[in-house]
Amino acid sequence: MPSNSDIDIAVIGAGLSGLAAANLLKDAGRQVQLYEAASKVGGRIQSFFDPLTDQPLGDRGPTWVWPEYQPAISKWLKHLKADVFEQYAQGPSVVETSLDQPAGAMHLPAQHGSMRIAGGTARLIDELLSRLPANTIYTDRPVQKIEDAGNQILLHFEDDIVRAHQLIIAVPPRIAAHTIEWQPSLTAQLTQSLHALATSMAPHTKAVIVYARAF
Ligand SMILES: Cc1cc2nc3c(=O)[nH]c(=O)nc-3n(C[C@H](O)[C@H](O)[C@H](O)COP(=O)(O)OP(=O)(O)OC[C@H]3O[C@@H](n4cnc5c(N)ncnc54)[C@H](O)[C@@H]3O)c2cc1C
Repeated sequence: MPSNSDIDIAVIGAGLSGLAAANLLKDAGRQVQLYEAASKVGGRIQSFFDPLTDQPLGDRGPTWVWPEYQPAISKWLKHLKADVFEQYAQGPSVVETSLDQPAGAMHLPAQHGSMRIAGGTARLIDELLSRLPANTIYTDRPVQKIEDAGNQILLHFEDDIVRAHQLIIAVPPRIAAHTIEWQPSLTAQLTQSLHALATSMAPHTKAVIVYARAF
């Protein structure tokens, strides 16, 4: 990791937002470095693959896009050459409504225009990554503190400090407010606003069951 060196633009968080921002900046001729707390990039995007065939089996994180209604997403899908296919939505679903009752068949309303990304949602992450120069991303690097030092911003890590001219925080606002130390401290009003911004799907988790044959 570049130590005490001057970075043009630092990005905190290498999920979809951070990687997309880094791509736009690189295309605009800017130098960018990403710092990611986890050991891998992608954030909430978590596709998983058959270990034998490497075929995509499902997504534990985001699965659907609605290109018909999301022009910005449509543009990115085209730019990243990601193909989509329609979500199969015919017939009843298997639904468990209570822990005391066995799962049963139920007709759920289909969401019009739901599309899935061929190869899994992680395809977007792979494409964004492949367009960034080597040594752009540092994983296992949680930013602990952001310090405004006048003409520079200091990013404090456990054992290092990095200086950047500009900063993008691509972390869910609540997590940024809660886990990063700020110098000077954020105003009470800003902290309250960050806490009040909902994180999409934060209370949800997914389990994916793969059946041996269709039924
Ligand atoms: C179960 C589930 C299902 C979903 N389904 C859909 C769907 O079908 N369609 C849809 O459009 N959206 C869906 N979403 C929402 C979608 O996943 C998110 O909107 C999107 O992935 C957000 O990307 P992001 O880069 O903004 O944030 P994140 O993916 O949260 O990335 C933020 C990154 O910042 C890192 N980070 C945090 N703190 C620090 C720090 N201090 N220093 C360095 N790095 C840090 C994190 O490790 C993470 O990698 C779903 C979400 C979940 C959880």
